[in-house]
Amino acid sequence: IPGWSQVGQTDLSTSNSTIVNVADGHQRAALVALVRNSELEGMRSTIRQIDDRFNRNYGYPYILLNDVDFTEDFIKHIRAVTKAPVYFGKLPKEHWGLSPYVTEEKVREALDRNKDRYLYGGSYSYRLMCRFQSGFIHKHPLLQNLDYYWRIEPDVSYFCDIPYDPFKYMRDNKLVYGFTITPMEAALTVETLWETTRHWMLENPQFIPEQSFMHWVVNEKAKYTLCHFWSNFEIVDLSFYRSEAYQSFFNHLDKAGGFFYERWGDAPVHSMAAAILLKKEQIHWFEDIGYHHPGYSHCPKDPEMRNRCVCTKGNSDFMYRSMCNRRFKEVSNINKDQALELAHM
Ligand code: GDP
Ligand code: MN
Repeated sequence: IPGWSQVGQTDLSTSNSTIVNVADGHQRAALVALVRNSELEGMRSTIRQIDDRFNRNYGYPYILLNDVDFTEDFIKHIRAVTKAPVYFGKLPKEHWGLSPYVTEEKVREALDRNKDRYLYGGSYSYRLMCRFQSGFIHKHPLLQNLDYYWRIEPDVSYFCDIPYDPFKYMRDNKLVYGFTITPMEAALTVETLWETTRHWMLENPQFIPEQSFMHWVVNEKAKYTLCHFWSNFEIVDLSFYRSEAYQSFFNHLDKAGGFFYERWGDAPVHSMAAAILLKKEQIHWFEDIGYHHPGYSHCPKDPEMRNRCVCTKGNSDFMYRSMCNRRFKEVSNINKDQALELAHM
């Protein structure tokens, strides 16, 4: 594709060089994964499916990020699986580490206390991952020229042909956040997330919009519903994460320490922010994008959509039973006064 170029792993600062050719209706967008060298086969599998189902017609770049250097072997075998450009990037040190607001000793205690309470309860690196995906991924130099990103992971499945460009769909419909699956979060991992969020809202009412979808995450009794968008798939207008409001929200959460003392995931954090800062009309369920990540699957039941899919992984009707998806349909926007009142309760 004319105008496209590939940079090597160390060349992160191609500053204004356009990594996406926008002349032919392409968006400034990429498929982005944080991934480990050990996940080579799983990453190849994901990329191959996305190419087969969608991207071979578009050639959007893949951006793979890692906290350590990618091995030559990893780079070679990823490049071999796709014709699309692939960019390999290493995280800046400041984006992958202990928050300056927590103390090592208290973190060690928290990991010990939580190790048998929930999945990854004792994992330090998992917390670095969640903090990075919540507060820093959109700041990586390789993403600086992008308007949208589509987050992907190794070892996921894409069941359906996607006969259009979801990035362009986002733009044409003024969408900010797109998802496929909405489960409930494990309550023990986010014990004080809403409490902390509520304080941020009350301290920063200037960021609360006139209309928001907040009622999806906070119920009539002013309790967190545990609803979240599963962020291992998300298509996002990056100006949302780059906004002053989102950044202020993330910094407030980071100061509270819950990424480490609890195990706040980037999914509930992104979802909390999306519900509080966006309107329902800006959030889209890509029902037609059949998807599996270990734990849950989604396959569309609408016959016309489903005819484009091969739904072989079990329990792919999850979204038609999901409480959070039902709530997504039922709940409408509330106004700023109502939002602040919920935060006050
Ligand atoms: P889960 O989906 O919550 O079970 O968490 P995953 O283990 O799938 O991690 C989420 C994403 O972050 C995946 O794309 C992983 O490859 C990636 N990831 C998790 N931990 C690390 C890490 O320590 N280093 C790197 N480079 N990637 C990681
Ligand atoms: Mn995963």
